[in-house]
Amino acid sequence: MDYDFTTGERGFGRVVFALALDKKRMTERVVIGETQETRRRFENGGGDVFYDETRPLGSLLLGFESDKDGEWNKHGMTLRESYGKAFLFDAERWKTAAPVSDFLRRKYESGEPSAMFAAVKTWEEYLNCFNLNHGADLLTDRLSTLYRPFAVYADCRPWRGESAVATDSAIRDGESSVELWYPVRKRSFEVVVTASSFLPIVACCLHKIDEWKFIFRECKICGKDFLARSRHYELCSDECRKARAAAAKREFDERAKNDGIERLDEAAYYYWYNRLRKLRKAADPERAAAFKAAFDDFRAEAVRRKAAVKRGDTKFTEFANWLAEQRDESDRLVGEQHLYF
Ligand SMILES: [Zn+2]
Repeated sequence: MDYDFTTGERGFGRVVFALALDKKRMTERVVIGETQETRRRFENGGGDVFYDETRPLGSLLLGFESDKDGEWNKHGMTLRESYGKAFLFDAERWKTAAPVSDFLRRKYESGEPSAMFAAVKTWEEYLNCFNLNHGADLLTDRLSTLYRPFAVYADCRPWRGESAVATDSAIRDGESSVELWYPVRKRSFEVVVTASSFLPIVACCLHKIDEWKFIFRECKICGKDFLARSRHYELCSDECRKARAAAAKREFDERAKNDGIERLDEAAYYYWYNRLRKLRKAADPERAAAFKAAFDDFRAEAVRRKAAVKRGDTKFTEFANWLAEQRDESDRLVGEQHLYF
């Protein structure tokens, strides 16, 4: 269901952010919608809601909206200023509110549920407070309650044991409590609901994850943070598990290839070495000295070519052919008369 950020008509009932955690499946389901519709969605799958997704447990914390630059507050202030204009939807007011409407739409379309909820809630409160006494102050109060966690978690990752930055104000109404729903009358199926602040939702997530002894880790392959069942899990997804298996196979193949090159080179070395020994035994110092010089040249060239194969600059078969040619050359240097004794 889409949300209209240009409407002047307030929706019926309050919009809530509802979260259901599943320990066994390690998932979290977030539903955002008007209270009755959201309840219906959990009860029987009906209900017209803005958002309903089941994601891996920890996704909300990991992808949580962050607002280092104070963008949300800035736009909230703009909405407050527009209250000064005479009528809610006269042209002047709309000129002020239109950029905020664009900002909220972008946030709504980001797909990140914490940003989506804040966007819808902002517009709802904008319309709600307009007709109330001290509406502007009320709007500021409600919006800063709504946005505060975006600043609190902008620079820290409490799920990795970093403590939240200190906030200048005490806990306000709605920041310490949630509603609990049991829509299918099963104690194990619990839905945590907020209509005003994410702080208790974040606290609840952290508490549950802690209680279930799951642990946030950094993936060894892609470097992303993820929630693991225990310390033994090092990879975030099937893709990364596949990537690691492929890397291990590549490494194995590489090693096998290098072993093959070394074995072949070693065999060639001993082929030459044995012939040199024979020449020395045969008391043919002149020929032995000439052979030794050729042997040294061969070694230097063999080392160079071997490195090239390992780097992948030359083909293995090319190296093997060259060694075979050199073997024939060594036979020629030893001379007919010394070959078969
Ligand atoms: Zn990964």
